[in-house]
Formats: sequence, C-alpha cells, structure tokens
Amino acid sequence: MDAPLLSQREKLAAHIIKQLAARRMSGSFHATAKEAAKALLDSIPSPASVLRCGSESVGALGLWDAIAHKPGVTLMSPYEKGLSPEEAFDIRRRGFMADVLVTSTNAITIDGRLVNLDGGGTRVAPMTFGPRKVLLLVSMNKVAGSLEAAMDRVRTVAAPANNMRLAGPLGLKNPCVEDGRCHNCRSETKICNVWSIIEGSSVKDRIHVFLVGEDLGY
Ligand code: SF4
Repeated sequence: MDAPLLSQREKLAAHIIKQLAARRMSGSFHATAKEAAKALLDSIPSPASVLRCGSESVGALGLWDAIAHKPGVTLMSPYEKGLSPEEAFDIRRRGFMADVLVTSTNAITIDGRLVNLDGGGTRVAPMTFGPRKVLLLVSMNKVAGSLEAAMDRVRTVAAPANNMRLAGPLGLKNPCVEDGRCHNCRSETKICNVWSIIEGSSVKDRIHVFLVGEDLGY
C-alpha cells in the first residue's frame, strides 16, 4: 500500500479507536488484511460457538474456513451448501445464543458509529443483541466523515454491490442490479429494509472493531 495513505489511515484509525472507546466499544488497527485476520482468529476463545453473518471482507480472507477449523470452535453457518431455507433460518435464530458473532459493517463514521442496512435484519439483529462478543472486520475504505456520508456510502456503494453479488444466487430483480445505482426501490426482493446505527454498547467492549489499512469488501 502507498506509504502516505497507510500513514493517514493509521492516524485516522487511532482517532476512531478513541471514539469507539468513548462509546464503550473497542478497536485495533492492522496495516494488512493478513495481520487483521490473524488478530481476529486469535481473539476467538476456545471452546466457543461462532455465528457467521454475511461479510465479503471476512470471506475474502478465507477466514470462515480458518474459524471452522480452529480447535474447540463450532461455526454456526447458515451458508452451508445443501441447507434448506428453514434450516438456515433455524441456525440464524439459534445464533442469538452464540458466544461470538463475526461479520463486518457497511460503514463506520469518524466519530465511531457503525452504520448498516440489512434485508431481513439477520446481521444487524445479533450485532445489537445476543452473542456475547461481536467481532467486526472493517477496512478503512468504509470510513465516512459523518452519519449522512455513511448512509450515502451504503446507498451508493455497499447496497448496489451486494445486490449484484446476490442477484444470481438469490434471483434478485432489483433495479440497482441493472445500472449500479440505488433507486430507493420498493422491490419485493430488495435487500435494504432495515437500517441500524450503533451509537454505543451497553455492555462494555462487547463489540470490537478490527480496522484494516488495506481495502476489503464494499
Ligand atoms: S435499488 Fe432497491 S435493492 Fe437496490 S440498493 Fe436501492 S433500495 Fe436496495
């Protein structure tokens, strides 16, 4: 990575980590995705049950396999091949009792707020309540200067890109799949139904954010 950009991201991350702490959350900075993946994996206790929620950032690093193979860890994955929709739904419901949730966030503000947009709430609900620990892998390309900028980022980048990723597997017929722009649609298959803004954590340090210098996800 370009040295000045990495330096800027490291300094900005230091500021964001202080903002997270003021909101009873914790954070750490890792220059590379590989270092962040190792830190996340090392932070999962053993034994533990781990709920998998959708995250391109985590998937891109091959972390799901690494978590599943960590001794003493049981990965609760609703994405296993061959599961019926009912079986996947059941795993998500039982996932509220998991020891750890691993996922990412669609955006993070410079003042430490976590901003997400979900289809059915299967990611934002356990981020908010349920698993004892929430581990988020978040690249610095997801940092936004304000709450408005974060929501705008989700609408203009994350949501259309996720629609394109899921269009084939889920048969989505949403307008953003055609032109890459959010139309704030009312489509039956839209994956943008539930906004979540996490302002802080009532349980201190329940949420930990691994900030990554390199770009990951969208
Ligand atoms: S067009 Fe619809 S499905 Fe696509 S990003 Fe916008 S609200 Fe979501």
